[in-house]
Amino acid sequence: MSDRIQPQPGIMDIALYQGGAAHVAGVSDAIKLSSNENPFGASEKAKEAFLRAVHRIHRYPNTDHRALRQAIGEAHGLDADRIICGVGSDEIIHFLCQAYAGPGNEVVFTEHGFLMYKISTMAAGATPVEVKERERVTDVDAILAACNERTRLVFIANPNNPTGTMIGLAEIERLANGLPPQAILVLDGAYAEYVPGYDGGAWMATTRPNVVMTRTFSKIYGLGGLRIGWGYGPREIIDVLNRIRGPFNLSTVQLEVAEAAVRDQDHVDRCRAENARMRTWLAEALAEKGVPSDTSTANFILARFADEAEAVACDAWLQSQGLIVRRVAGYNLPNCLRITVGDEASCRRVAHAIGLFKARATATEGQGDGFVAGAGA
Ligand SMILES: *Cc1c(COP(=O)(O)O)cnc(C)c1O
Repeated sequence: MSDRIQPQPGIMDIALYQGGAAHVAGVSDAIKLSSNENPFGASEKAKEAFLRAVHRIHRYPNTDHRALRQAIGEAHGLDADRIICGVGSDEIIHFLCQAYAGPGNEVVFTEHGFLMYKISTMAAGATPVEVKERERVTDVDAILAACNERTRLVFIANPNNPTGTMIGLAEIERLANGLPPQAILVLDGAYAEYVPGYDGGAWMATTRPNVVMTRTFSKIYGLGGLRIGWGYGPREIIDVLNRIRGPFNLSTVQLEVAEAAVRDQDHVDRCRAENARMRTWLAEALAEKGVPSDTSTANFILARFADEAEAVACDAWLQSQGLIVRRVAGYNLPNCLRITVGDEASCRRVAHAIGLFKARATATEGQGDGFVAGAGA
């Protein structure tokens, strides 16, 4: 028996998650392009539902989430009984780790994978296993090579954050087919709505005993501040997750707003189309200025710089211009900046600012005058 108060093994090794910055000192109208939020916000119908819900906040929420699950089921053609709703998809990820992984078990994800996979794995006392990608694309062979009898979960985000790349259904099927029998494949579809015709892996989660899909209201639905996500998969797995879900994990407000949001697919369609238009524009504008990126399938672009020093200098310059983007060194991408596709004005501003940065860097090259020092930033 231990003679002092201490947390479970692994917990003190968790690095605290850093959210995207929202403010720049001394700038009142900063443009936030650091958290992949929808620049158009939530659907008007969702906002109206929020206002109506205020009349019921003295009541406990319902615990089975039936109305929301049915609305999601109708929107996606899925069996509502195989859906579980959570406090963001983060909570579904957490349930999966808590329920299926513990000390001695391994959880596999990729080197540029979403940070919550590692955090939830370690919170459960399990061992994270990080697998190489191939030029910032999920490598199915590398994942399969990393699996063994200790593997319990494999997480891939498709499209992935922060790379913006994705792999096709044939590759995902090959992954699901090749996993050891005790392992679950989790397809994180946080950005699935941005890919025309892609179901986020719903069909695989419908037909396979070892595939779970997670989805969120935080991205295209513009409800990141409200914290709603969901998971869908084999009945047996959803039943397990429901046993560790708090009965009142979602508030009345979350449930009613999410239901209105998922019933307004026109809003989703408009946001998808506008994102695609500005994403192409932004990627081309940056490429012209000497900043390449992989073809993104999501609502952000991973801008690549020559090295870490240039990425850091550009980030500082953008901040001085009131533009907040995301450094992704914590995702093993020190020479990159992740830039959320904003509205047209924001995209033009960030492209213009990066153009100035590159022009200035070129002008001062060979003068021993670093850009940041020269700019007084
Ligand atoms: C944003 C994001 C999520 C969503 O998290 P929520 O908890 O639903 O807000 C999940 N996975 C990835 C890869 C993401 O980028």
